[in-house]
Amino acid sequence: MSRNASLSVPPVGGDLRGRAHRSWEDDVLPALERYTAIPCLSPDFDEDWEAAGHLAEAASLLQEWSRDRAVDGLHAEVLGDSGRTPLLLVDAPATGGRTGTVLVYGHLDKQPALGEWRDGLGPFTPVRQDDRLYGRGTADDGYALFAAVTAVEILDAASIPRPRVVVLVEASEESGSPDLPGHLDAASATLGAPDLVVCLDSGCLSYDRLWLTSSLRGNLVATVSVQVLSEGVHSGSAGGIVPTSFRLLRLLLDRLEDPRTGEVRLAALHAGNRPAVQRMPPGWDATAAFPIVPGLELEGASDEDRLVRRAWTPVLAVTGMDGIPAVRDGGNVLRPCTTAKISLRLPPTVDAASAKAALESVLSAEPPSGARVEVRVDGAADGWAAPPMDGWVDQAFTRASEELFGTPPGSFGEGGTIPFLAMLTERYPGVPLVATGVLGPGSNAHGPNEFLHLPMAEAVTVATARLVEAAGTRSTGKAG
Ligand SMILES: [Zn+2]
Repeated sequence: MSRNASLSVPPVGGDLRGRAHRSWEDDVLPALERYTAIPCLSPDFDEDWEAAGHLAEAASLLQEWSRDRAVDGLHAEVLGDSGRTPLLLVDAPATGGRTGTVLVYGHLDKQPALGEWRDGLGPFTPVRQDDRLYGRGTADDGYALFAAVTAVEILDAASIPRPRVVVLVEASEESGSPDLPGHLDAASATLGAPDLVVCLDSGCLSYDRLWLTSSLRGNLVATVSVQVLSEGVHSGSAGGIVPTSFRLLRLLLDRLEDPRTGEVRLAALHAGNRPAVQRMPPGWDATAAFPIVPGLELEGASDEDRLVRRAWTPVLAVTGMDGIPAVRDGGNVLRPCTTAKISLRLPPTVDAASAKAALESVLSAEPPSGARVEVRVDGAADGWAAPPMDGWVDQAFTRASEELFGTPPGSFGEGGTIPFLAMLTERYPGVPLVATGVLGPGSNAHGPNEFLHLPMAEAVTVATARLVEAAGTRSTGKAG
């Protein structure tokens, strides 16, 4: 197969790379394609999720697949009660007398379709093209369970001793992980105190090395509604007398950001100081990283500055609107109400609860023109800044990148949010935490044409295996 030329895969039976490649081809891809076809949207995007049963179907597919692996004593169970999204726990007991536990995290819920997909592609239609598997949730984050369990399987097949591995796959991440704290409480006896946590829901800046996430932004999701009338009226009769709800909404949004520059105006949403440290990948180019229309002027002074901005700057996006008909249905009417869903990314060190309070107070104060304004914050998630990495973890990750690509890993601050990391750091202070992933150039998680870069998925599989292996040596050494 040509698709793995970049990794120059050695014959199967050789090292972990070859085993990972063969497992992905034979075992993972057929199952991952079945998962891709399931419209298992996160609860925020499917209020009937429980009755629809798609999250439960995805969880049981991943559970069954895990049970079929050649891993001695592997136990896979789905936790969950009525009203709560399922949690899949896969528990692989230690081998070769190793001690300690590695916890690997992923999620199975998906973002909605969002936008027009290219001809021949669709959110719930798995399509393989060259070294890519297209479909919603392939890269964010359906691949994670497969990568984690395959990492265990290839270590065992190669008779490399390892500690216990617990893979935790939740189903409310894209809604801000509201069900995760309860699940972590319920599973705390099973989880114990991990010696290492590996999170496979993050990104990479290129596909030619492994990438470590040094920070993540937090997130506020809110709904802002402006009402001026109890029902729509002729715009010719009311226009000039009744202020429009759209203009008043704009005034409210202008309180949050400078409409010319996008600069967020609330001091509580800015980090005190931004770190300068980022390892720029050679040749990273913002214009190539996004499907930008020709001529668009980007924010930020340089590509280096853009990476720091993405990691450490608060930013507002309007992600949905109600009360406005589609263009073909628009009539000459002064509409009664406009509602916007907004998403505010927060710098890693900003406290989401304080940011939430600041947002509510600035939007609720003095409604423009005395309109009826309603503000509801639907989610507030803290960001995360990685503590300095333990030497042995850094070494294992660096060795894995060199083994796979012949280059040391890079690290960068991610612009997205993974609430799990902040929760975990709070629960297990001091436990080393590696966040890495496959969401690289073009992979377009959350947008149309999402794809999983298959060589990167295999590489992350091997990296996970190497981290697990190193944790076993480490914790066994400690115990002895
Ligand atoms: Zn994700």
